[in-house]
Amino acid sequence: MKVLFCTSEVVPLVKTGGLADVSGALPVALGRIGVDCRVLLPGYPQVLENTAPLEFHCDLTGLPGQPTARLLRGALPGSDTCLYVLDVPAAYDRPGGPYQDTQGEDHADNAWRFALLAKAAALLASPLSPLGWRPRVLHCNDWPTGLAPAYLHFMGVATPSLMTVHNLAYQGIFPREVLPDLELPPESFSIDGVEYYGNLSLLKAGLYYAGRLSTVSPTYAREIQRSPLGMGLEGLLASRAGELTGILNGIDSVEWDPAADPHLSCAYSARDLSDKRHCKQALQARMGLQADPDAPLFGLIARMTHQKGLDLVLDVVDGIVHRGGQLVLLGTGDAAIERAVRDTCARHPGRVACLIGYDEALSHQIEAGADAFLMPSRFEPCGLNQMYSLRYGTVPIVHATGGLADTVEDGVTGFVFREPSAHALWLALEQALTLYADRAAWRRLMKNGMQQDFSWQNSAQSYLTLYRGMV
Ligand code: ADP
Repeated sequence: MKVLFCTSEVVPLVKTGGLADVSGALPVALGRIGVDCRVLLPGYPQVLENTAPLEFHCDLTGLPGQPTARLLRGALPGSDTCLYVLDVPAAYDRPGGPYQDTQGEDHADNAWRFALLAKAAALLASPLSPLGWRPRVLHCNDWPTGLAPAYLHFMGVATPSLMTVHNLAYQGIFPREVLPDLELPPESFSIDGVEYYGNLSLLKAGLYYAGRLSTVSPTYAREIQRSPLGMGLEGLLASRAGELTGILNGIDSVEWDPAADPHLSCAYSARDLSDKRHCKQALQARMGLQADPDAPLFGLIARMTHQKGLDLVLDVVDGIVHRGGQLVLLGTGDAAIERAVRDTCARHPGRVACLIGYDEALSHQIEAGADAFLMPSRFEPCGLNQMYSLRYGTVPIVHATGGLADTVEDGVTGFVFREPSAHALWLALEQALTLYADRAAWRRLMKNGMQQDFSWQNSAQSYLTLYRGMV
């Protein structure tokens, strides 16, 4: 099986979200089960600087606007997975992130920048490919790659394409005026095409023209076929329900291993949990919480956005403290949410603590040191933290949505509540607080969670089955 995996971000080179984690892990996991999966990525400065050695492979012609374009070849850092880098200085050699400038504003020519990536992918998957290697499947990811299936269609190329949605909230919407810059035929601007409520949507293009669709959990695959989580695309997605699959993401089980985690001063496993209490002690000390081994300690790590439901948690904080619990929060995001979190901590010194910012080491220390982990997301395509929590014996308390519903089993590995409301969260918390007092029952929950297998190997196998069904 040969697959070209087209993406706009990949760890550790360039990351704004979960797509980068998937792009760094899935192609490698596919390689391990015999798939020749090669990655195509734009040549942002940080990619050109940090992927040594990159060799010139060929010039690339036929891209929209005919810019000078070269294809470079290297490997994903730390692996032998082939990486093709699309080097178009006019599009990618600029400061800032993959989508935004240093001021946090979207690059004005994003539609064109990602049309280049999509067209390059389509060319490499076509008989015109200069690679001397042709994928049997083109795997596209999120809106930056959404035009690739459209280009394949208008080039008359039959290579099957898969469009994967990592988060439907980001759709790559642009005014129709950019259409000529993308060199798509005018007839593509139609409801049966790339048009979306009078604008152009790159994601919709992918969802319309790709042969198969997937997303990152089975429950999210169902949820996006209805309002509100379909976010305007539910009609199209429901009409393609038979071609839409949900495949759970995996986690990096080397980086997230409580038995060998360099960010921790302790190590433990399902067989010997005794040292987990040292992690709790260390976390309480680091965060200025009262040193209390018996206080149920709740953790939360999230981008502080409406999606993640932090307001629900803030509504139940008094109850947690009243029942003798503690809470530690880590995250950054909307200023108003950050302020509310800081205010809550100030009201409960020694019981509720936060760090507003991004801190990789602390995120590991929370996963290890907390007794339970809160994830009241309003929606969650897959979610990683609940899987890290299960692996770390930190009992997840989650809203039944997306990947949370698919990975946490109520009363067996964690607590699952049905409504994204403070009341429903509180009822789940009360159950957790009650069970916490029964040490043997709590331990059973921890061990059940630690026995789950969320390795990339499972996901890779499911993608391979999907690819096979496409060719
Ligand atoms: P999303 O992709 O919607 O942000 P996920 O749960 O899928 O949510 O993944 C989030 C990832 O980012 C997790 O690995 C989480 O631990 C990490 N993360 C989020 N915020 C922070 C932070 N402030 N500091 C450290 N890690 C964070």
